[in-house]
Amino acid sequence: MNHISTARPFPHEQVEQWDEETDVAIVGFGAAGACAAIEAAGAGAAVTLFEAASGSGGASALSGGEIYLGGGGGTDAQRAAGFEDSTEALETYLTMAGGPDADAAKIALYARESLTHYQWLKDQGVPYKGTFLPGKIIEPAEDDTLIWSGSEAAWPFSDAATPAPRGHTIQSMGWGGGRKLMDIFEARVRALGVDVRCDARVLSLVADGEGRVAGLVVRIDGQPRFVRARKGVVLATGGFCMNRDMLRRYAPQTLRLTDPIGEQDNGSGILMGMGVGGDAIHMDEFFTTCPWIMPESLVKGIFVNTHGQRFINEDCYHGRVSRTMLDQPEDRVYLLVDNAIFARPLDIARIEIAAVGDSWEEIERELGMPKETLAATVRTFNRYAAEGRDPMFRKAPEWLKVLDEGPFAALELNVGTSFFSFFTLGGLATRPSGEVLGRAGDPIPGLYAAGRATSGLPRWGHGYSSGLSLADCTFFGRMAGKNAAAG
Ligand SMILES: Cc1cc2nc3c(=O)[nH]c(=O)nc-3n(C[C@H](O)[C@H](O)[C@H](O)COP(=O)(O)OP(=O)(O)OC[C@H]3O[C@@H](n4cnc5c(N)ncnc54)[C@H](O)[C@@H]3O)c2cc1C
Repeated sequence: MNHISTARPFPHEQVEQWDEETDVAIVGFGAAGACAAIEAAGAGAAVTLFEAASGSGGASALSGGEIYLGGGGGTDAQRAAGFEDSTEALETYLTMAGGPDADAAKIALYARESLTHYQWLKDQGVPYKGTFLPGKIIEPAEDDTLIWSGSEAAWPFSDAATPAPRGHTIQSMGWGGGRKLMDIFEARVRALGVDVRCDARVLSLVADGEGRVAGLVVRIDGQPRFVRARKGVVLATGGFCMNRDMLRRYAPQTLRLTDPIGEQDNGSGILMGMGVGGDAIHMDEFFTTCPWIMPESLVKGIFVNTHGQRFINEDCYHGRVSRTMLDQPEDRVYLLVDNAIFARPLDIARIEIAAVGDSWEEIERELGMPKETLAATVRTFNRYAAEGRDPMFRKAPEWLKVLDEGPFAALELNVGTSFFSFFTLGGLATRPSGEVLGRAGDPIPGLYAAGRATSGLPRWGHGYSSGLSLADCTFFGRMAGKNAAAG
């Protein structure tokens, strides 16, 4: 028998017999796979879902369960908080957040359908309390469900699109509502009669000489089993932040970071898709964040690099600021604070105090910077902050403060030792329908993908906003399931 490989499809003509058959075979029981299964089964298809782990969840269950939603005049929660979000503003923001190669087709569809998707989530049983928490937070500390979760109110985004908070978090006490979200999805999946197989790792796709995907090979009880998928296979296997070898080849910037966040995230679905000719795009892009914005008084500080120069408006989303830190020299930056705004960052951030002094000149000396670098930066910043403006980086006035109350401190965010969590954003190229595209831009018959196995709405680390990944996984997971069921 032909060797079974993730990187190469098993030839259809060599399948002696199918061990089982289904209409739609879904690989991975995270948010993308669950939503694909719900739609495919809802459309009347026979659906089998294979999950390598012993239960549902993946990275989705570790998440905050926050989903980026809005447009269309606003969700009930947005409107109650006084925000009339427009589809145009959502589309413009997503386009900017998607970076130089934002996926216009997916963005347009998502912006148009976002409110309908919100209703769909509620129909599955996902609870939203509808209460808004203003300010800069990472996730609600209690069970509120609407927060600012991106760079909407920060320059340059705020100039281009009317800002609105769009981070809709599942109602759940404290951080980490992702498990609850997955439990709700799992209950729906099972109620719809999907055949769920856990401890079932998919090893390979099965494809014919023309490149049509006919099924897959899955290991169950230590044995390879051949599964025919009459209508299609959906890859929903997540990203590759846990696969060192793929990181080295495709996203080497991440090798500097010590904290991949995920569950399996070994990129197997991406490799399987590439094996049948699927294009993998933006593979070097990743989300990263060091959670430096809590307590939020720290946002009134300013970041400088080791040359004593500012590099961003600090009121952007913490992930955008963190991603920009990685572009600075010598793998470390300093957050400059005065006595009025000083607060201890979250322990998990592993941010250390690098210097304390009675003047900015003293801080500059302590950090070993040349004279009149850091001190000149603070002087210039302070002069404009006193006028309520930041002409260099356009930080919004509400986050500007003259840093003049000693003692002063420099907090060090060090790429090697601070907590820079990350996950990958690159993956298979897909249409909004979920069809996987080959390198010539043509769909691979019988193959669909969704979630972090694909390059979707979030595809640019500098533009990532909380909730974008689950928005993409849940919505485009649904599209993949629906279209696979239509065969
Ligand atoms: C701590 C944390 C907090 C986060 N918070 C948020 C948030 O609030 N909002 C947001 O939008 N994003 C958030 N994210 C990111 C988001 O959770 C993930 O990007 C998203 O859940 C990925 O979903 P997925 O369905 O693509 O993959 P996953 O949820 O990882 O599911 C993939 C599944 O496929 C299975 N699998 C893999 N390979 C195989 C194989 N060969 N055979 C069978 N099964 C396989 C895996 O075991 C896994 O269960 C967070 C991530 C983390 C880690």
